[in-house]
Amino acid sequence: MSKEKTKKLLKKLNQKIDSVQNSDEFKEILKTLAKFHNYSYQNRILIQLQKPEATLVAGYKQWQKKFDRHVKKGEKAISILAPFTYKKKVTEEKNVNGQLKEVEKEVKRMYFRPVSVFDVSQTEGKPLPSIDITVQDTNSKLLLPLKKFLETKDIKLEIKELKEGLKGYSQGGKIVIDKKLNDTEKSGVLVHETAHELLHDKESRKDMSKEVKEMEAEAAAFIVMDHYGVEIKSDKYLALYKKSYDLKQSLKRISKIVSEIIGFVDQYFINESIDNEKLKKVI
Ligand SMILES: [Zn+2]
Repeated sequence: MSKEKTKKLLKKLNQKIDSVQNSDEFKEILKTLAKFHNYSYQNRILIQLQKPEATLVAGYKQWQKKFDRHVKKGEKAISILAPFTYKKKVTEEKNVNGQLKEVEKEVKRMYFRPVSVFDVSQTEGKPLPSIDITVQDTNSKLLLPLKKFLETKDIKLEIKELKEGLKGYSQGGKIVIDKKLNDTEKSGVLVHETAHELLHDKESRKDMSKEVKEMEAEAAAFIVMDHYGVEIKSDKYLALYKKSYDLKQSLKRISKIVSEIIGFVDQYFINESIDNEKLKKVI
């Protein structure tokens, strides 16, 4: 794929992201997300341990007040630790005109107390606005050549059942994709993770933000899938990540990997059609 074509597609993607960011639907999503408390790292681990598939959590009353939903009967709470502050009077010695005197002072102290939260899957009521990112299975033929491309790069692939909301991940030399996705979706995720594998190795990972990495990987997926006529709805996903970063800065990197993948897949299809022609002649 030519650099010009990649450039054009990136521009198209950037415009889509901008229009998504300005849409009422997206603003509604952001408003809802903002209502959720940003839990500390420790609490995110606690949530993960007790309910690995949890996506959005809030307290019992918050579900009612902020989201017009309520916790279903019999649901088990997730315990996290919430900080509480209280004031305490302490005496301390203070030097007043060369003499030590005891003075009373009020200080703020903090302690942690377990509180209960619930995941959205444990609640019912008014639906939350959501981003629909399901992709129709319109080009299932892509998966095989993409798998073959991975083989040439010595990257292993595992397809297995992943928890709700997780489509795939890469872990340096290995990519894991969710079994529940249709083949077209799997292809899109595969390109995304392949981009992580090839562009974001440990060396270059260090000084790159998660936001930039996600945008590069998803832009690569968008361009490859677009080339094969599949729309993967990356715009909304990328809109969530985009703050001040302009994808054009990544053009070279994205362009290189995209042409490599498309070059390989196109060649695969050409070879396959030649084989089919030969087969027809034999028959
Ligand atoms: Zn990613």
